[in-house]
Amino acid sequence: MSTTNTSPRPFIYADNRLTCSGVDLTDLADTYGTPLYVYSADAIRERLGMLQTEFAAIPNTLCYAVKANSSLAILKLLSEQDCGFDIVSGGELERVRRAAPSALSRVVFSGVGKQVWEMDAALAADILLFNVESEAELEILSQRASAAGKIARIALRVNPDVFAETHPYISTGLREHKFGIAIERAREVYRRAAQLPNLEPAGVSVHIGSQIRDVEPFAQSLQRVRSLVEELRADGHNIRYVDGGGGFGIEYGNAAFNPAASVAAYATAIRSALDGLNAHLLLEPGRFLVAQAGALLTRVLYTKQNGTKHFVIADAAMNDLIRPALYQAHHEILPVIAASPEHARPNQTADIVGPVCETGDFFARDRTLPELRAGDLAVLLDAGAYGMSLASHYNTRVHPAEVLIDHGQPRLIRRRETLDSILAPELL
Ligand SMILES: *Cc1c(COP(=O)(O)O)cnc(C)c1O
Repeated sequence: MSTTNTSPRPFIYADNRLTCSGVDLTDLADTYGTPLYVYSADAIRERLGMLQTEFAAIPNTLCYAVKANSSLAILKLLSEQDCGFDIVSGGELERVRRAAPSALSRVVFSGVGKQVWEMDAALAADILLFNVESEAELEILSQRASAAGKIARIALRVNPDVFAETHPYISTGLREHKFGIAIERAREVYRRAAQLPNLEPAGVSVHIGSQIRDVEPFAQSLQRVRSLVEELRADGHNIRYVDGGGGFGIEYGNAAFNPAASVAAYATAIRSALDGLNAHLLLEPGRFLVAQAGALLTRVLYTKQNGTKHFVIADAAMNDLIRPALYQAHHEILPVIAASPEHARPNQTADIVGPVCETGDFFARDRTLPELRAGDLAVLLDAGAYGMSLASHYNTRVHPAEVLIDHGQPRLIRRRETLDSILAPELL
């Protein structure tokens, strides 16, 4: 067996047993129970390092999109490697304050519906930049900044009208989407912003969608942003920041994927679009940093045959990982104990489903895998992004626990909820 991990994922077999950064997943299931989110700290650091290396030649701040995975321990880990944060709510701001207070000066605040209390909290925290998405928001932010006696640095989130090939629910850069301000109107809105008290137009931001694999849409949208920055500077605005947003995708299937080479292509596209502009680049990667570092570990409860269809019923469900139900997303599934002569498991085609009362509660349909039997453990790969952060209590199920493997040691970073903890806010 090869000793170097050439996979883009930290989940690899050692002696037919699946491990994460050297820790046996069977041991984790025994210790912490299932369903369980398992993350590799090294894998997250490695991804951040790839981006840092590729962009080192130009002034930049990487602002991790907190919504991808907002666990405090993961925010802390990223901040220790100088990462900033992209937040979309006052709740996410509070997470950064608790996990990484020294990173508040590296926070950008995005979102179409910022509320007054959220603006006030962000102003008090002296965040780096507000990404403003409408003229109405500009007016309110100006009032709040004046009331606080602060100057809010702003970027308008412009909509470059660039099409990016991804799932329609996570594409955002077209005119028809709710996000941002049409780029044609931007100069006029910047003029207005500059007139309003306590606002300082300092950047331009763009975010065209999520899980974008091709680098061309990033290059196109930043070329449009570049022209706008030149016009805005000619209009007298001191535009120093270009926020290219997030959205850089990963390979969820088992096709070859070289993250370092992908980052190099992404960086080349962005750097050439902005070459000579003399701006500080901000990026908001979410999925790329954390998706492949995590997996959802689950135990098979039952199997059953309905007519010609075989079902594997796992203890994890759509409330723990909703991506398949919400976006028809594909997740690779691996048995924790690989099939072998001692552990004979012929291939079988089955639907892998959860216990929730919805037909949409499936992880895979007609997937051919080594047969899974009651009591077996399996993992859903690439579940580190938009997994736990989208978990719900549907069917009055508690959230999974989370474990981070760091320096070869597992550490519980979120306890499993209890029925008492989830019922506590309810009144009879
Ligand atoms: C969701 C989001 C991101 C992160 O997207 P990824 O696809 O996870 O990289 C970044 N910026 C904004 C404004 C977002 O809404």
